[in-house]
Amino acid sequence: MIYLDNAATTRVKNDVLKEMLPWFSEDYCNPSAVYTFADKGKEAIATARGRAAKIIGASPAEIYFTSGGTEADNWAIKSVAETLAVKGKHIITSKIEHHAVLHTCEYLEKHGYEVTYLDVDKYGTVNPESVKAAIRPDTILISVMTANNEIGTVEPITEIGKIAHDNGILFHTDAVQAYGHIPIDVTKMNIDLLSASGHKLGGPKGVGILYVKKGVRLCPFMHGGAQERGMRAGTSNIPGIVGLGKAAQLAGESMTAHMEHERTLRDRLIKRVLSEIPGSYLNGHETQRLPGNTNFSFDGVEGESVLVLLDSLGICASSGSACTSGSLDPSHVLLATGMSETLARSSLRLTLSDENTIEEIDFVADELKSIIKKLREAGR
Ligand code: PLP
Repeated sequence: MIYLDNAATTRVKNDVLKEMLPWFSEDYCNPSAVYTFADKGKEAIATARGRAAKIIGASPAEIYFTSGGTEADNWAIKSVAETLAVKGKHIITSKIEHHAVLHTCEYLEKHGYEVTYLDVDKYGTVNPESVKAAIRPDTILISVMTANNEIGTVEPITEIGKIAHDNGILFHTDAVQAYGHIPIDVTKMNIDLLSASGHKLGGPKGVGILYVKKGVRLCPFMHGGAQERGMRAGTSNIPGIVGLGKAAQLAGESMTAHMEHERTLRDRLIKRVLSEIPGSYLNGHETQRLPGNTNFSFDGVEGESVLVLLDSLGICASSGSACTSGSLDPSHVLLATGMSETLARSSLRLTLSDENTIEEIDFVADELKSIIKKLREAGR
């Protein structure tokens, strides 16, 4: 198998799994308990919180563990909406956000909030000037993702965060695809709230974080026990939390090397596809893109047909975000970049990790070339 769908999920790293395992059946304590057996659990969570905080320049007290990126996005947006409803009911976001953000905003629209969905340019970039122009006296939150999950475009969030702060507005960023992959500094980048997820950086599924800047008031999301300082109830998922912490630590230690490796593979794949397959296009920004992201469109073929043929060779890829595959609707992200429905339906996302090799990339490029040729000849 050649796995090129790392934006959908990643393999749990061996060292991450190793640290997680004892928490299932040896140290299986409920860390909220008062006996000594639970103390180790409390310590493990504290260590993980410190590790999760460190790679974004946050302090441990600013990190809350959640069940994943979706919950973190829901919590950030719904909680600001509730907490600041007296100040205003207007939210600004972009048209290319993940559905965890878009559907949360749509939910709030049904409850009396107004949302501005900003356009993007052909590279999928949000123009900070358009953010400025959308601000109203009743704007309470700006939410723009750090990097897009489909086309990999890295957004100018430092500028957007500054605009938010200059206008006394909170800034949230969905960093699920960026956390652990590219450098993030919550202070320098003017971030008040940040969502991330364990399974996108070599950690387990079902665990994520919400970073909440000190001083930002949020209301609790899950009601019940006193876990996560009363903000997010539910028995702590220690194996998951330990795994996310370890994955964050490893990502921090090897980020520069991994970025360099992924960029080399990415640029080789892009160069080969664009130069060897006629009628192929790169989607997303040429340079301001995640090191591991490639996304192409091909004249005259269906992305789904390409996927099926790649799959028959053991190559895992995606023709849109994993969360929308299964439906044949063209990607809302590609449509927002101004692409036609037909071209959007021909898209193929290949996302790399530090574990992929040059040989794999060359094999995929060779096979893709013949697959596209074959499909065009067959009129599919
Ligand atoms: N936000 C982005 C940008 C994502 O790519 C994803 C997952 O694909 C999510 C949010 C949801 O994260 P999770 O799978 O942890 O709920």
